[in-house]
Amino acid sequence: MADLYNGSVFSAVTVLPAHLGQISHLMRGNMTPVELIQSHTLFPYFAAFLSEERSQLVASAMTGDLGGAINARLGLLASSIKMPTYLRFCMQCLFEDEMIYGLPYWHRSHQLPGVFICYKHGCELKNSEISTFLRRNKQEYVCLNWKLACNGAIEQSMNEGLKAHLTSLAIQSHSLLNSSYNAIDHHLIDEIYKAKLYEKGFITLSGNIRFQSLRSMMVESLGQELLGLCDSEINKHSHDTWLHKLVRGGEHIHTLRHLLLILFLNETTDTIFQKKVVRYHPFGTGPWPCLNKAANHYKKEIVTQCKVTRCSKTKRPVGTFICDCGFIYSRRGPDTNESDRIHVGRIKRFGEVWEKRFDELQRRIDLTFRQKAELLGVHHSTIHAKIKSTAQVISIESHSSSTLDLSNDVNASEENVVIRKISKKRFNASNRNTDQSRVNWEQRDQGLFSAIMQAVSDIKSVTDKPIRVSLPEIGRRIGKLSLLEKKLFALPRCKALITSEVETLQQFQLRRVTLAARKLFEEEQKVVKWKVIRNAGLRRESANQLNNEIDKVIENFL
Ligand SMILES: [Zn+2]
Ligand SMILES: [Zn+2]
Repeated sequence: MADLYNGSVFSAVTVLPAHLGQISHLMRGNMTPVELIQSHTLFPYFAAFLSEERSQLVASAMTGDLGGAINARLGLLASSIKMPTYLRFCMQCLFEDEMIYGLPYWHRSHQLPGVFICYKHGCELKNSEISTFLRRNKQEYVCLNWKLACNGAIEQSMNEGLKAHLTSLAIQSHSLLNSSYNAIDHHLIDEIYKAKLYEKGFITLSGNIRFQSLRSMMVESLGQELLGLCDSEINKHSHDTWLHKLVRGGEHIHTLRHLLLILFLNETTDTIFQKKVVRYHPFGTGPWPCLNKAANHYKKEIVTQCKVTRCSKTKRPVGTFICDCGFIYSRRGPDTNESDRIHVGRIKRFGEVWEKRFDELQRRIDLTFRQKAELLGVHHSTIHAKIKSTAQVISIESHSSSTLDLSNDVNASEENVVIRKISKKRFNASNRNTDQSRVNWEQRDQGLFSAIMQAVSDIKSVTDKPIRVSLPEIGRRIGKLSLLEKKLFALPRCKALITSEVETLQQFQLRRVTLAARKLFEEEQKVVKWKVIRNAGLRRESANQLNNEIDKVIENFL
């Protein structure tokens, strides 16, 4: 050992050795440090599920002299999964190696946690007397030989079921060691697991994970004994087990635990890493329908672009659907049933086809606003606003030599900004003139709008004792109750918002039902109808009236 390292004294370690740069140097470049790390250490096994950054940190510690940092960088110090305490070997491998190479050697694949079987021969591994931790002579390299082998002991006698699982784990562990998978994108693997769990019914249509049944199925199918051997018992009473962390997309989870989940899912590292698994999509499979009512392909499934982002507030996925006709809409997901597919949350851009139809309809004096809105698939207040802004643009254009770019190719948001700028100019101009009162109302309408939105969202965020969204409640919260009660007609935007947000008694009852069901679900209790109704505080008559709707809500959590 001292000869190898030029007189310096290091410990011989089995897990992840350091100073590989120096070894490579001594081998006169016959093997680069990277080749050494990849083919002769346990690194590939751990690297497969590490982030790229961490994986590089570990590799650089191994190449250099930072042996002490390796385990910390791998997160192994904090892990409850222990490395095997003795070096292990397989009798048949020993025999074969001696025949082929004239000398038996310690196999990497036999030294991994959770590996009790030879991946190649399917026989149980034996423990040697060589401890991987407590060694009298730390600098000693010990060769595997027959004398050692004769004293070897089998650690575990196992039944057939357990043996089958352990054999798969051994094969998967071996294949990871000999693969070059590393630093997989965590979000991707998260998606893949979710897709599989969804397929097997452990995720509801609304994206909730059924931890309780997942946990008991996993314990049942893998067995407590296997989980125990892998230092991965699952506490039935905890909501924060390694399984929860893994499925929720946690990083720094030990490779062995990924392998256990993959085993439970009936997959292999190859199918997972080669992305052969269809990804879970919160909006189902595309193409999706175009919901541009003005287009002749309305509701036809032709939209191939769907960008999924996450709502920062609710953490729910938001899909933005982009059609070639220029129409862009979004909605919050995940979709929970077929009818969600034709639901528009918000129109982000109308697009050329819609605008053309709008222009045509605008000239039709035989149609009311509501009829036009109906034909265009929007709320009539949208048409109002649209006509107003067009009128403003036109009036500005005719009154001043505006330098603003009003060409047709500005996108929706830019367009809005431009319109707002123009409106402001107009307000200022009229302020200086005579029409003081009208301007005030418009400004007030604008100003109160966001306060009302905030109030509605505040009201809805109270979940322990839900409050009904009503005009008086909103009014009190923004300190403008009497204004809203008496002058709402003068505030068209606010009026439209309030009208769409206030809840009927039934809507409020259903929201309470949803909250109660969600709470039970999150507490991992069974979502039973009578409990939901009781916790939502519904009287029997109301519950009877809403019977079907309540069933639908509960379905989402089953
Ligand atoms: Zn073997
Ligand atoms: Zn379209």
